[in-house]
Amino acid sequence: MLHGTHCEALIAREHTLSLVLSFLPPLPFSPSLTLASLACRGSCSEEIMDKFNLRDGTQEQTYGLGVKEVWEVPEEHHKAGFVQHTLGWPLQNDPLAQTFGGSFLYHMKPNLILIGFVVGLDYENPYINPYREFQRWKHHPDVKKHLEGGTCISYGARVLNEGGFHSIPKLTFPGGALLGCSAGFLNSVKIKGSHTAIKSGMVAAESVYPLLTENDDFIACETGEISEAEGSVEATAYQTGMEESWVWEELREVSAPAANESLKTSCSRGAPVRTKGAGIRLL
Ligand SMILES: Cc1cc2nc3c(=O)[nH]c(=O)nc-3n(C[C@H](O)[C@H](O)[C@H](O)COP(=O)(O)OP(=O)(O)OC[C@H]3O[C@@H](n4cnc5c(N)ncnc54)[C@H](O)[C@@H]3O)c2cc1C
Repeated sequence: MLHGTHCEALIAREHTLSLVLSFLPPLPFSPSLTLASLACRGSCSEEIMDKFNLRDGTQEQTYGLGVKEVWEVPEEHHKAGFVQHTLGWPLQNDPLAQTFGGSFLYHMKPNLILIGFVVGLDYENPYINPYREFQRWKHHPDVKKHLEGGTCISYGARVLNEGGFHSIPKLTFPGGALLGCSAGFLNSVKIKGSHTAIKSGMVAAESVYPLLTENDDFIACETGEISEAEGSVEATAYQTGMEESWVWEELREVSAPAANESLKTSCSRGAPVRTKGAGIRLL
């Protein structure tokens, strides 16, 4: 568990008997290295980035808000594997509109439909309500027909990093590293970040393991405070490992436009060609 830049890892153990018998108090320990995978805009990872100036020289991170629902639908409406992505309506009235957003609709076995709507959080119209836009979107005939006769069984919302490649901070700091969406590894064109988060976990494990096992001088963190004094070892192999991985290549390919740039801005950067390329690869 991270509290600011203080790391106090708590392991809650679960037993299967009953709620009362299953509870064991968390076991505190001070980790030698802290791998921070606290999602997009995690308050502690933001604090770490500030403390170690990890954003120096990078582009500012930008954000979108994703609202998502899972629907259970009658089997006759279900086509497992069906994928539909949209841009534009109901957020944009014309291709050069400032507000940016889009949707996804996936059919997943056995009879589930996952739908979601992402709105770039730099919208200028103060009256925009991302959840209401999502509701409006569901009334489009090409969406509504998928949901007819179905029931919403779960829902949620979460922010997404949309800055992409140019907003990736320095990944390591004395005593730890940033992983997954804490580092901004979301492919915003695909709205996919699970694969890059998993890969960053693999690369981090490969980079940290030798440090923990082969280095006799390794200074374990005594107090849990993430600081140069406590964690003098930096897993720099993680930075190079990520730069040499397919994650870097994939994010570089979709680096412009940032997904919440208006079409006007992205056109001026020649982005449609790249976005189209990313779309073709997605197919
Ligand atoms: C609407 C929407 C749709 C998406 N669709 C897809 C998709 O179809 N495919 C895909 O690949 N990706 C998708 N993504 C992106 C994907 O969810 C993320 O890229 C992925 O979950 C990143 O993994 P992560 O481990 O970095 O963060 P997360 O999965 O968000 O996990 C971070 C965890 O850290 C915990 N945490 C935060 N702070 C602390 C703290 N101080 N101490 C302890 N724990 C803490 C959080 O509670 C959370 O459980 C979608 C995202 C959204 C918002």
